[in-house]
Amino acid sequence: MKKTICIIGGGPAGMMAAISSKTANPDNEIHLLEKNPLLGRKLRATGGNRCNVTNNCSREELVAQIPGNGRFLYSVFDQFSNQDIIQFFESHGCPLKEEDHGRMFPTTDRSQTIIETLKKTIDDLGVHTHLETTVHQIDWKNKRIVGDKQVFPFDTLILTTGGVCAQHTGSTGDGLKFAKTLGHTITELFPTEVPLVASENFIHDGSLQGISLSDISLTLWSDKHKKVKTIRYDLVFTHFGISGPAPLRLSSFVRKQLIKQQAPVLVTIDCIPDISLDTIMANRKDFNEKQPATWIKQYVPSRLAALLVSLADLSADQKVGQLSPAQLDRLLQLLKAFPLTIRGTQGMERAFVTGGGISIKEVQPKTMESKLVPELYFAGEVLDIYGFTGGFNITAALATGYVAGLHSNKKA
Ligand SMILES: Cc1cc2nc3c(=O)[nH]c(=O)nc-3n(C[C@H](O)[C@H](O)[C@H](O)COP(=O)(O)OP(=O)(O)OC[C@H]3O[C@@H](n4cnc5c(N)ncnc54)[C@H](O)[C@@H]3O)c2cc1C
Repeated sequence: MKKTICIIGGGPAGMMAAISSKTANPDNEIHLLEKNPLLGRKLRATGGNRCNVTNNCSREELVAQIPGNGRFLYSVFDQFSNQDIIQFFESHGCPLKEEDHGRMFPTTDRSQTIIETLKKTIDDLGVHTHLETTVHQIDWKNKRIVGDKQVFPFDTLILTTGGVCAQHTGSTGDGLKFAKTLGHTITELFPTEVPLVASENFIHDGSLQGISLSDISLTLWSDKHKKVKTIRYDLVFTHFGISGPAPLRLSSFVRKQLIKQQAPVLVTIDCIPDISLDTIMANRKDFNEKQPATWIKQYVPSRLAALLVSLADLSADQKVGQLSPAQLDRLLQLLKAFPLTIRGTQGMERAFVTGGGISIKEVQPKTMESKLVPELYFAGEVLDIYGFTGGFNITAALATGYVAGLHSNKKA
């Protein structure tokens, strides 16, 4: 039996839902509604306009890299995985290349190539795309969508309107309101994959602004001095705190700890996680006649080295060979566990991903269909699913989109 399936939201989740739905049953009529004048507006800005579209890692790793309900995605990834995403783009004339940490990008280094590939597939399949079409209301009783220009009757509806971060791209949370009206629970929304705000004066006076550290180890501590989470990746100091992959990845854990403690939290940076204290000490004798900053500059950029020396209370004219054991200890502690007081994260406008969304408890994990409203499906960031940066969020959007589209074909 022929069905009319409407999809609200033309991001990666909505586009892939349209493709899998129409591919599975070409007789169905598919309408993809998008408020922007183009599809994939946010997608265009991803990965620094290069689109880190997925990650070439194992299934276990994929789930582990999605701290926000990644385990809910096991059966989704059984049906459409990161390897299927790679295969999809390769077989549609858009080869991908792998960079560090398994991150996959189009070989063109242009996110537009990803969007064009999805769009061409949608057009070739005969999906009806309606751009500049904002949905204002879902009249579920009469099975019709009320758009600003037109009313769309439907048999089945897929909601792929995204989260609430980077709202200028069109993701303003409309789908969360629709889902709530239809009886769904929306878990608390929060900015995640977002930079961290520090309290220290040396941060706010710009002493470290712009300094990047590669492959550091960033640890979040509890108020009982227990390790909460350690992330190994890159970091950059800013005028408000720290940004880059390591702080972004730590942000959802920092948020939880801030709520738990109701006070600022401690993070420490091991600037040289692969170099032991013994190795540093062994290397010290070559610098006995030099100033401490000259020694430390071997391990960290000179501006940071100068700050570490001053935070260790060493006088500028002291030589390395004259440092007391206590002074040495202070300096090396700073190098291996540089402390920062984190008083918050930046807001939703700076976040890469929205934490929270439609509760996954009310969604069938094998089909993405609502457990409360038959013929209603969800996919992408509108769900309470959030991953680390590294291609995991687009992966979750494409995979849930694929599964929602596929199962939306079931008999009405
Ligand atoms: C700057 C930035 C860079 C990022 N880089 C990466 C990256 O490299 N790799 C990665 O994996 N993730 C990245 N992300 C996250 C990723 O972009 C999102 O997780 C992903 O786009 C979510 O896809 P989606 O289809 O669920 O939602 P979206 O991409 O947000 O799409 C939702 C669409 O729905 C439309 N819409 C909303 N309401 C309505 C309505 N009422 N009527 C009609 N249309 C509506 C919106 O206009 C929008 O186009 C990045 C995010 C940002 C902000």
